[in-house]
Amino acid sequence: MINQETLILLVEDDLDYAELVRRAFAADHRRFQLTIANSLAEARDCIAESNPSLIIADLRLPDGLGTQLLSPGREGRTIPLVVMTGHGDEAAAVDAIKAGALDYLVKSQEVLTDLPRIAERCLREWLNIGRLQAAERAQVESDKRFRLLFENAKDAIVIFDLDGTINDLNHETELMSGFSKEELIGRQSILHLTPTSAQLVRERMQQWLSGEKIPPVIQIEGVRKDGSIAHVEGRTQFIHDLEGNIVGYQGIFRDITERWDAEVSLSRLSHENAVMAEIGRIVNSSLDIEDVFQRVGSEVGRVIPFDRLTINRINKENETVTNTYVAGIHIPELSTGQSFELEGSSNAVAVSTKAVQRIQPQDEEELTNLFPGMVTAYRAGLKSFLLVPLISQGEVVAMMRLQSCDANAYSEDDVRLGELVGSQIASAIANAHLYSEIQNLARFPSEDPNPVARVSANGIIMYANDPANTILADRGLKVGEPTSEYWQEMVEGVLADGTSKEVEIEFGTRIISVSLIPVPEAGYVNIYGRDVTDAKELDRMKDEFVSTVSHELRTPLTSIKIAAEILLNHDDDDPETRLEFLEIIDRESDRLSRLINDVLDISRLESGEMPWQLEEVDFGDVVRESVDGIQVLLTQKDLAMEVDLDSDLPLLWIDRDRLIQVVTNLLSNAIKFTPEGGKVRINAKKVDADDSDGLNEKLEVRVSDSGIGIEIADYETIFQKFKQVGDGVVNKPQGTGLGLPICKEIVEYSGGEIWVESTPGKGSCFYFTVPVSVKKYRLK
Ligand code: ADP
Repeated sequence: MINQETLILLVEDDLDYAELVRRAFAADHRRFQLTIANSLAEARDCIAESNPSLIIADLRLPDGLGTQLLSPGREGRTIPLVVMTGHGDEAAAVDAIKAGALDYLVKSQEVLTDLPRIAERCLREWLNIGRLQAAERAQVESDKRFRLLFENAKDAIVIFDLDGTINDLNHETELMSGFSKEELIGRQSILHLTPTSAQLVRERMQQWLSGEKIPPVIQIEGVRKDGSIAHVEGRTQFIHDLEGNIVGYQGIFRDITERWDAEVSLSRLSHENAVMAEIGRIVNSSLDIEDVFQRVGSEVGRVIPFDRLTINRINKENETVTNTYVAGIHIPELSTGQSFELEGSSNAVAVSTKAVQRIQPQDEEELTNLFPGMVTAYRAGLKSFLLVPLISQGEVVAMMRLQSCDANAYSEDDVRLGELVGSQIASAIANAHLYSEIQNLARFPSEDPNPVARVSANGIIMYANDPANTILADRGLKVGEPTSEYWQEMVEGVLADGTSKEVEIEFGTRIISVSLIPVPEAGYVNIYGRDVTDAKELDRMKDEFVSTVSHELRTPLTSIKIAAEILLNHDDDDPETRLEFLEIIDRESDRLSRLINDVLDISRLESGEMPWQLEEVDFGDVVRESVDGIQVLLTQKDLAMEVDLDSDLPLLWIDRDRLIQVVTNLLSNAIKFTPEGGKVRINAKKVDADDSDGLNEKLEVRVSDSGIGIEIADYETIFQKFKQVGDGVVNKPQGTGLGLPICKEIVEYSGGEIWVESTPGKGSCFYFTVPVSVKKYRLK
C-alpha cells in the first residue's frame, strides 16, 4: 500500500493546469504529498532535496523535455517518470516511453480528475517492475554462485541426461579422469569402467530409475585417460524441472584410489604376515624336511599363486639337482625323485647368484635359447617360473620353483615374497640338515643297517656291528675270536696284495656283497657288506623276461612255419585243408604282431623310452573311441555294454592314446573273460585325492564285468608280465599276458593307481585313477 509519505513531483509550466492538478490531489483521499516545479531546473532542485517517489512531468517545458528527468536521482535511484502531452503530440510521447518513461498521459479533464488514481497505479506498476528486476538479478546471482561452487568443488560433479549421457561437468571431473570436458560430454561415464563396475552401475541405475531403494554410495573401478586405475566413490541425485518432472541426474564422484590402495595393501600385508607366521610355525615344528616341504607347499600357494610347486635338492658334489617335492600339475618326466645336471640349468643361475629368478619367456623359442631343460614344463602348459634359492650356511642347498600356467604371472612383489618364504624354509633345511648329520654320526658304524666288521692280520675278529654280529653268530663266530679258515685266507690275501676284493655270501634268503678293504699300515682289513638281493632279483627278472619273450614269440612262429611248410610241400591237398592252414597262418601272425607290439610297449614303458604326448583329454571321448574299437567283440559274444560317466567329469592331463590303450585293454579283458549274454560296464567319477598335500583331484574309472572273476590270491599276480591265471587252456592262446602290466605302467606313469576287486564266478571290477588337468591353487 502506498503510504502517506509518498511524495509526487509535478513539473508543469502551465500554472493554471498545475493548480488544477493540486486541487485534484487535495480532493483525493489518497493523501499524496504533491510538490510542483515549473521548469526542469526547479524540478532538479526539488529531486535533490526531497527525493520524490514519482515524477509527473509535462513533455515540453521551457528549459527542455520532461524526459530529461529520467537520469537517476539521489543515491543513484531511478525515479519513475510519467509524461503528459497535449493532443497531437502522441508520437513524441511514444518516444518518451522508449527513452524509459513509465507511461504517458494525454492532458484532458478526465485525466486531470483521475490523476491521483493514475499515480497510484503507476507507483504499483513501478514497484512490480522493481520486484521482477530484483528477482532476475537474484537469479543471475544465484546461478553465478552455483557455477562457482560447481567449478570449485573438490568432488567431480557430472550432470547426466535421463538416458545416462553426460551433459555437463566441472573442472574436478577433468582432473579426476584425465579427459577434457569436450571428450566427456556425450559419453556415458567419466572413466573406462571395468566390466564388473560397468555391470554394477547398470544394475544400480536400473533399480534407481524404477524407483527401488539403492545404497547411497557406490564404489567403482575404472581406467583414466592415462591408463592408470582409479577407484571412485559415487552418489547420484535426480534433477527436477520447475514442474517437478525428473529431467536428469547429477553424479558426485570422489577419487578414493589412495585410500583404496592403502586398504588393499594393508589387508594383503596382514594376510601375508599370517601366512608367513604359519610357515614359520611349520618350519619350527618339524625336523623332517620332507614333512616341512609338504606342509609349506600349500601355505606358499596362499601368498604366491602357482599351478605347480617343486622343491629341488641341489647336490654340489656331483653337480646334480633332484626333485624332492612336487605339488600341482603332474609332469611324469619331472616327477619326484628325478635328477638332472645342474650345469646349464636355470637352477645354476639361481645357485650362483643366490637370488630369486623370475623366468617369463614370451615363447618357446626364447625359453629354448635360455634354458632348454625347461621346455618340457613349458609344453606341459607352464608359462611363468619363479625360482627361489633356499640358502643354508651361505650355500644354496635347494631350490623352490613356483610355476604358473599364466604368462607373466609373477610380479616384483612376488619376487619379494619369494625371498621371504625362501629364507623361512632355508632355516628349516639348516635345522633338518644338522639333525640328520648328528644322526649319521651317531649311527656310523654301529647303527649302519649294513654289516661292518674288522679282522686283524692274524685272523681275529676285532669289531662287528649288530648286523655283522648276526651273520657271524649264524656261522658260530664272534668278536674277539678267530674267524673261519676261508675268511682268514682272504684277509691275508688282500693284505698281501694291497688291493680290495669283493665276494658274495648268502645269509638266509638274502645275498650280501662283501668288500674287503685292506689297511696294511694298521694291520687289519675292514669289511663292509651290502644287501644285493633286490638288485640280483632285478637281473634275474630281466633274463627271465628275455627268455619268456623269445619263448612266447617262438610259439606262434612255429605254428606259422609248420603251416607254411605243409602248404608248400602238399600242393595236392583239398581246398578245405589248405584254407585251414591259411587261417592258422593268418591267426598266428596276428597273435605274433600283437605280442611284438605288447613286448615293445612294455619294454619302452619300463625303460622310460615311451614318448609321451601329454594334453588335456576329455574322458568321454576316450570311452567313445575305446568302445568303438571293441564293438565287434561285444557283438560276437552278444554282451551288453553299459557306459555310465558322471556329467561333470573334469578334463585329464594325460597321453590320450595311452589312456585309450588302458581302457581298451580292460574292456577287452572284461569281454574275453565273460561268458556269452553277460554284461560289461564302465563308469567314471571325480574323487578327491588322498595326497598329503591335498591339492590334486583324480578321476576314478571302473571297468566291471559279470565274468569268471579272479581269486584274491591272484590280485597281484595278474599285473605281472606274462602271468595268466585261472583256466589256462581256455585263455592262453588269446592273450599275451602283457595287457595288465602295460595298463599298470601307463597308469602309474601318469600319476595314478590300478587295482582289482573280484568275486570268482560272479565277475571282476578293475579300478584305476588318473590325475585331472590344471587345477589352480589360488587364493580364494
Ligand atoms: P591277457 O593277455 O592274458 O589277457 P592280461 O595281462 O591282460 O593278459 O591279463 C592277465 C590275466 O589276468 C589274464 O590272463 C586273466 O587270467 C586275468 N584277467 C584279466 N582280466 C580279467 C577279467 N576281466 N576277468 C577275469 N580274469 C581276468
